[in-house]
Amino acid sequence: MSEMIKGKCLCGNVEYEIENSFNQFYICHCEQCRKTTGSAYASNLFGDPLQFKIISGSKNIKRFDHSERGFTKAFCTGCGSGVPYLNSAGDSIVVPAGSLDEEPKFSAKNVIFNKEKAKWCSKSENDSYFDGFPV
Ligand SMILES: [Zn+2]
Ligand SMILES: [Zn+2]
Repeated sequence: MSEMIKGKCLCGNVEYEIENSFNQFYICHCEQCRKTTGSAYASNLFGDPLQFKIISGSKNIKRFDHSERGFTKAFCTGCGSGVPYLNSAGDSIVVPAGSLDEEPKFSAKNVIFNKEKAKWCSKSENDSYFDGFPV
């Protein structure tokens, strides 16, 4: 019995659904992921292409393929959010975990390219934590 979960981009133009059963979960600190996210790392789940469907907004998706490391990024042209794409091998849908609206099921996370991690991403005793904006 397969359970489908949904996700969407920030502006809501691109919406998709995928079976809630992921083979891999990669937290990637590589330079390419830092550049395209503009942040510390990418969080990508790998799902079954046969159990994936774009519900709306496929015309709003732009795909960028980079020569290094077979790197790919797909994003909504309206808001820039990362959206799922078929990997170059054609055997997995790569889902930016933050785009999901429901909790994904996976066995474990793999942190990769840890050597390229931004130094400022490491925890420091000077860091402060707030539940919302600082007050
Ligand atoms: Zn969007
Ligand atoms: Zn990466």
